[in-house]
Amino acid sequence: MEGLLSIIIPSYNEGLLIDNTANVVVDIMTEHKIPYEILFVDDGSKDDTWNRIQEASKKHEHVRGVHFSRNFGKESAITAGLTYAKGDCCVVMDCDLQHPPIKIVEMYKLWQEGYEVVEAVKEDRGEESGIHRFMANTFYKIISKLTNIDMMNASDFKLLDRKVMLVLLNMKEKNSFFRALSSWVGFKTTQIPFRVAEREAGESKWSTKSLIKYAILNTDC
Ligand code: UDP
Ligand code: MG
Repeated sequence: MEGLLSIIIPSYNEGLLIDNTANVVVDIMTEHKIPYEILFVDDGSKDDTWNRIQEASKKHEHVRGVHFSRNFGKESAITAGLTYAKGDCCVVMDCDLQHPPIKIVEMYKLWQEGYEVVEAVKEDRGEESGIHRFMANTFYKIISKLTNIDMMNASDFKLLDRKVMLVLLNMKEKNSFFRALSSWVGFKTTQIPFRVAEREAGESKWSTKSLIKYAILNTDC
């Protein structure tokens, strides 16, 4: 099936990266003849992310954006993306190209073969610092135990069929945890490995403080 693919990109203070990310993804989709739209979700950025998204959407026919009035966090940005995406399936990816967009081609082929969820699983955790790695590992160990889903190498880099998108939206979870929920809903799922690339520019938005806050919010269920 030649279905439409929505590529959802949550973006917070990514003004430096929007133009390049749009160019890279547009080129890959065009080269591989995949019908697509790119949906940037500006999560209340304080820099020029929204201007850059508007410029990218003028430059590229298939690029659009939505815009939050303040920073609600990546989970909310993903939910907004799922709401506004028009695709028969979607991929959620980071704006900094740590999720290598070339992998989307493989994910889309697997969807064409009938998979409803394609999870990109980390081969390693890239260039993260010692404390960040330690915090992340501890958090995922706890979450894996609680949910009975192996989260150690899970990521938000996933393809979802529209059926799965609708189920996630209907859950109306207030503090959702996208990478766990999309495994838990139990559709026909497969996995592909990916190497976490280095961030193209700018800094990670996850301070140690925000990671702890996030871990507490997500284990309070
Ligand atoms: N992001 C977001 N809202 C936030 C924090 C991050 O939409 O409040 C986006 C960010 O722009 C990026 C993705 O989520 O596209 C992952 O963020 P980041 O690269 O900072 O996380 P890390 O790779 O360090 O886990
Ligand atoms: Mg990143």
